[in-house]
Amino acid sequence: MSKLPNIGTSIFTLMSKMASEYNAINLSQGFPNFPVDERLTDIVAKLAKENVHQYLPMAGYPPLLSKIAALVKKSYGRIIQPESEILVTAGATEGIFATIQALVKTNDEVIILDPSYDCYEVPVLLSNANPVRVSLNDDYTPNWTKIEKACSAKTKMIIINNPHNPTGKILGESDFDALEKLLHNYPEIIVLSDEVYEYITFEKKHISAHTREKLLNRTVMVSSFGKTFHVTGWKVGYLVAPEYLMKEIKKVHQFLVFSVNSISQVAISDYLDLVSVQEIGSLYQKKRDYFRELLQTSRFELMPCEGTYFQVASYASISNENDVDFCKTLISKYGVAAIPISTFYADGKDLHLIRFCFAKDNATLEQAAKKLCAI
Ligand code: PMP
Ligand code: GLN
Repeated sequence: MSKLPNIGTSIFTLMSKMASEYNAINLSQGFPNFPVDERLTDIVAKLAKENVHQYLPMAGYPPLLSKIAALVKKSYGRIIQPESEILVTAGATEGIFATIQALVKTNDEVIILDPSYDCYEVPVLLSNANPVRVSLNDDYTPNWTKIEKACSAKTKMIIINNPHNPTGKILGESDFDALEKLLHNYPEIIVLSDEVYEYITFEKKHISAHTREKLLNRTVMVSSFGKTFHVTGWKVGYLVAPEYLMKEIKKVHQFLVFSVNSISQVAISDYLDLVSVQEIGSLYQKKRDYFRELLQTSRFELMPCEGTYFQVASYASISNENDVDFCKTLISKYGVAAIPISTFYADGKDLHLIRFCFAKDNATLEQAAKKLCAI
C-alpha cells in the first residue's frame, strides 16, 4: 500500500521529541538557540505593518533575486541572471525535492554518498528512480574510483553535500578535479550540490561549485538562508541552476508551493543590505573551538570538523551499545541529546559515533559539556 514502505519518522524529530520529554539539553537536531540578529527582527517588526502579505512572483521577490545574484558574485565571482537562473524555495529541502522530481525519471539512477543527510532519497524514490549509495572513504573524503564505478548510462545525477552533514568534512580542489574528469566521461549526468553550510567553514576555505567553470552548465546549487542567518524555522532557501534546468525545476516548484512566504523574502532581501556573510564562519569557529575545549576532559574522542555546526564524537571508550541506544541512554540517563551517525547510512552502519550540534549559546554548551564530562 505505502509508496514509501521503508521510510519512518526522521531521527531529528525523534531525538528532539525525546529530548523535550526528558528535559535534556538538545544538541541533536541542527538549529541555533541564540537570539537572531536584532537588525533582522527589527526589519520583520517593521514589515509586519507594511503591504508585504500577499503572493509574490512564483520564482521569488525580484529584489531578493537580484541580491542573491549580487551575493553569489561577491562570494564566488560568478555572474548569474536573477530572472532565469535563481529560484527562492521553501528551504533547501523543497529546492532539493523540486530539483529531483523535475529532472530524474523512472529507472534513472542517482548517486548518493554514504553517510548522507536524509532528504535526498525520498524524492528519488517518488520519481520511481533508484538511489545508488556509494560510501565515502574512512576519512569521509569521496572515493572517486568507487563513484566512477557506480556510474552508468542510467546515472542521471550525483548529489554532493559540501560542507558535509554529518561529518563536517569539506571538499578540496582535487575532489572537484576528479568530479569534472568523471563528468567528462558522462555528459548526461547532472550535479546537485547541496551547499547549505557554504558560509560555515573554518581553517580551510569553502570551494563552491559556483567557482568551477566546467560544472556551471550542469549543476544545481542549493543554499539555505535558514543556516546562513540562523533562522532555520523560516524555511527559506534558494537554487541556482542554468536556465534549461531551472525551467523544468520551476514547473515542479510552481505546483509544490507556487511562491515562498512573502514577509520572510522581503525581510531577507532588506537584511542582505546590512549583513556580511563572511562573519558567520568566525562565529561558528569560536563555538566549535569552545565546545571542543569544554569536552577535552571527557571520554569522547572528537573527530575533525572543517565546516557545518556539527561535531562528530566517538563514544567507543564509554559504551558498547549501538549508537541509537547510546543516544537514548545519553538523553534518559545523562540529559544530553545527540544524533546517532548510523542513521545517515543506507545500511545503518554503526561505528559508535554520534553528532552534536554546537550552534548554541555558551551557557548551553557549558551545561551540556559538564554532563558529558561526567560520563
Ligand atoms: N541539506 C543539508 C545538508 C542540511 O543539513 C539541511 C538541514 N536542514 C538541509 C539540506 C535542509 O535545509 P532547509 O532547512 O533550508 O530546508
Ligand atoms: N538539517 C537538520 C539537521 O541535520 C535537521 C532538519 C530537520 O529536522 N529536518 O539536524
